[in-house]
Parts: sequence; structure tokens; C-alpha cells
Amino acid sequence: MNAIIISIGTELTTGQCLDTNAHWLSERLTDLGLRILSHITVSDDVTQIAESFQRAMTEANIVITTGGLGPTPDDLSREALAIALKEPLEIDDLAFKQLESFFIRLQRPMPDSNLCQAKRPKNCEIIPNPRGTAPGIVHSSQSGHFFLLPGVPSEMKAMYEQSIEPLVRKLSDGARTIKSRLLVYGMSEARIGDTLGNLMEPGRNPSVGTSAADGVISIRIVARGKNDADAQILLKNDVSEVKTRLGKAVFGEDEDSLASVVGQMLLERGLTVATAESCTGGSVAKRLTDVPGSSGYFKEGFILYHNSTKTARLGVPDDLIERDGAVSESVARAMAEGCREVSGCDISISTTGIAGPGGGQPPDKPVGLVYVGLAREGTTDVRRLVLGDHLTREEVRDRSCKAVLNMLRLWLIESR
Ligand code: ATP
Repeated sequence: MNAIIISIGTELTTGQCLDTNAHWLSERLTDLGLRILSHITVSDDVTQIAESFQRAMTEANIVITTGGLGPTPDDLSREALAIALKEPLEIDDLAFKQLESFFIRLQRPMPDSNLCQAKRPKNCEIIPNPRGTAPGIVHSSQSGHFFLLPGVPSEMKAMYEQSIEPLVRKLSDGARTIKSRLLVYGMSEARIGDTLGNLMEPGRNPSVGTSAADGVISIRIVARGKNDADAQILLKNDVSEVKTRLGKAVFGEDEDSLASVVGQMLLERGLTVATAESCTGGSVAKRLTDVPGSSGYFKEGFILYHNSTKTARLGVPDDLIERDGAVSESVARAMAEGCREVSGCDISISTTGIAGPGGGQPPDKPVGLVYVGLAREGTTDVRRLVLGDHLTREEVRDRSCKAVLNMLRLWLIESR
């Protein structure tokens, strides 16, 4: 079964109001095994609304619209449905009585303008509104069901849960859709696409798709099954196949972060960590300590912004800073090693770089050049990152934190 969601209102098409209704309905309908064909947003224009209704009726089994059921002249959904169905609007006796009793309960006279809310096209039925004055409307035919719901989110949700979900559940006959999100770091979206290949073919079940944000690629896997068990098997198989194909690049699922995953591994291994940060200004320490229970592995963090503090606190030789500059492989190494020694931790990490927008000295030291270091018993590794001067200061700092946390994650995996 498939569905189209239509959101109505000029406040949506002008960007004054965010369409949270379509988002919420999509999640609920997807959970019930429906395929959402499209989201359509239409302004308060009766011709446009009626045309979108007519088109959606021919394309989907279930159409749910929200908005435009109020008592004001810009509430046009009822009229548009009447045009789309070529049926006259009539007063519904039950809807009228419910409206009347709503105003009696409030001890207020019913304004004439509210009368239009008791109207529905001839061959439609009204849906009671447990939370407000605007009743919903449903039109059912052999090809499917067309629901008009109010725009106010709390009213829309109450009406959906009370009157629509039970019907959709029955129609979908136990079908279920379940989802999973795998998180990948250190692999480009294009390479992921090549590696996952056939899994990402359009129309396949489960569907596998990618999206990128702030250096992390999310892999969405959506499995539709005849029932919950069927969907679970399909999802489990794909999750395991994606993990096999992408290997260590997959760092977590759903709400995981690089810091939470690293924290879990440190805890399991009984290892402690300390940080020595320059360009990231304490963000690595913040991310590590954002995770509940981080006192089990995080000991201390140094923010060594001025060159003199690198020497005073961690013993980075000043002639080394003089010779190679604060943003250098050797200083990142000395910071990590000094931090490990002073803190007495098993592992220490360091960052030093040019976050910008000023301060770059291309071509040798452009904005976005960052060195991240990882020291542990007997070895220190330093990575040179050329993040690019197209990134903002905040982005350079964010990517640096992720790079060093990922460096630690990979070492924890490899040294197991
Ligand atoms: P009412 O009887 O309250 O007028 P209605 O069906 O006419 O209900 P609208 O007038 O279209 O609803 O919208 C009322 C308010 O609900 C909007 O001003 C907006 O704040 C909110 N709203 C409408 N549509 C959406 C949507 N798609 N997502 C989130 N909020 C919405």
C-alpha cells in the first residue's frame, strides 16, 4: 500500500512554518508498512489544492492532507475536495451538533463563520475532532481513502491516532516497516555507493540510501515485511551485509557518536585517556566527557593555546616550536607524548592546526592544516590533515575532533 501526504497552507510555502505534520505522518505510516510516494505542499489557493487532490487520488491508496479546515476564508480544503470530487458541500448534521456542543461547553455563542466547519462534500463522512472545532473529512472509494485533517499538530495527531491509524492498520494487514541507521566515518559517499552497489538499487527491499552531514555518512536501511518478524529478518541481513562490505568504516548505529563508541571501547579495555588541544580548544575533551560514565576513562584535558603553555605545561621544547612552528608534526607528537607523561594515562591525544579564517601561510601552512597525534606505550602516531580553506573555523575544529577520535577508535580496534 502506498500513500501521499499533502500539507496545505501559505505559512508553509512561504517558509514561515516548518512542515512537521508530514514528517510525523510519514514516520507513522512507514511504520505500518506503507510506502510514502511523495510529500506535497500547497499554498492557500483553491485551484492548486483541488488539482493536487485530484492527482493524488489517482496515484495513491491513502492520501492524508493537513491544514485548511479552519473557519477563515483562507481555509479552503473542504471546498477544494468538493471541486476535486465534483460534489456539492452539504451541512453534516452530526458535525453541526458536535460544533454546537463544543461552544456550549465553552459557554460561548458559536460564530457564524464556524458553520462552514460542519460542511463536507456530499459522499464524504466527517471524522470527529477530539481536540478542536475543525472536524476531519474522509472520502472512501474502491481505489482508496482520502483524509482531510486539521493543520494544528496536536489536533492532527489526536485525530490520526483515534480514527485513521486503526483503519490503516487493518488495511495494511499486519505489514511492518522497520529502519536502521549505520554511521560511517572516513569513507567518501561515492566510494560507499560503489561498495554497496546492488544493495542501493532503486525499488529494492530493503531500501538502502546514504546522506552526508559534517563528515559523517549515514546509511539508512528501510525494510518492509509482511509482518514484524519478516521485516526484522530482512533488516538484519542488510545491516550485517553493509557492515561486512564497509568494515571498520562503520563506527556505530542510530544515536552513537565517535566519542560514545570510543568511550565504550576504552571502558571495556580499562584504558585511560587525556587530551592536549590547541586548535580544537577543548572540544575533544568536551565530546569525550559529554558521554555519561566518561569518568571511567577520561582523566584530564589541557588547552594549550599559547606556545608558552605547550612548553610550560607539557614540556614541548621551545626550540622545537621555534624551528618547526606550533602547527607541525613534531609539535603534535611532543604534545601527545608530554600529555601522556604528565597525566599518567594509557593514551593521550593532541591537536594543533590553523582553524582560520586568518593565520594561514600557504602553500606550506594553509588554513585547514591540522596535525592530530595519538600516543600510547612505546609509539606515537601523528596524522597530517589538509581539511581545506573552504571550511569555516567551526567546521575545521569539528573535523579535527572527529579525525582524532576516529584515529583512537581505529587503534583500539587494531590493538585488540
Ligand atoms: P484551525 O481550525 O486551527 O484553523 P486548520 O486545519 O485550518 O485548523 P491551519 O489554519 O491550516 O489549520 O493551520 C493552523 C496552524 O497549524 C498553522 O498556523 C500552523 O501553526 C500549524 N500548522 C499547519 N500546518 C502545519 C504543518 N504541516 N506542520 C506544522 N504545523 C502546521
